[in-house]
Amino acid sequence: MSRYVPIDLRARVRKRFANCCGYCQTAERLTAMRFEFEHIVPRSRGGDTTFENLCLACPSCNQLKGDRVVFIEPMIGEPVAVFHPQQQVWSEHFAWEQDGAILIGKTEIGRAAVEALQMNREVLVTMREMWVAFGQHPPDGSLG
Ligand SMILES: [Zn+2]
Repeated sequence: MSRYVPIDLRARVRKRFANCCGYCQTAERLTAMRFEFEHIVPRSRGGDTTFENLCLACPSCNQLKGDRVVFIEPMIGEPVAVFHPQQQVWSEHFAWEQDGAILIGKTEIGRAAVEALQMNREVLVTMREMWVAFGQHPPDGSLG
């Protein structure tokens, strides 16, 4: 859902996430898409339009996440909390394999997000393989 986010707040969120998706880490500059400002806790569930509750998200992650606050963890089949890009450290929950082509979840939260947000769909893996070949991926890991 698109809601007004003040320009200065947009700039802070962009800087925080280094112009990458807070979930799948895709760099906006490598895509032909305009990334979105995603309410981590959805507005429909009381989430505010604040720095702490916003992340930059690619359109795919934003759409697939929707207003969910839990995802099903594929190995246990149980709901777990959605990864919180502002409060949780990305590298504690996710890791790259195959030089950056494949994203794996290291924790229940990470595995649930990889599955729910379809982070290894074929077209995205193919794109990553090209980005890796050109030395443009994965990102620095500065997101922490
Ligand atoms: Zn994404």
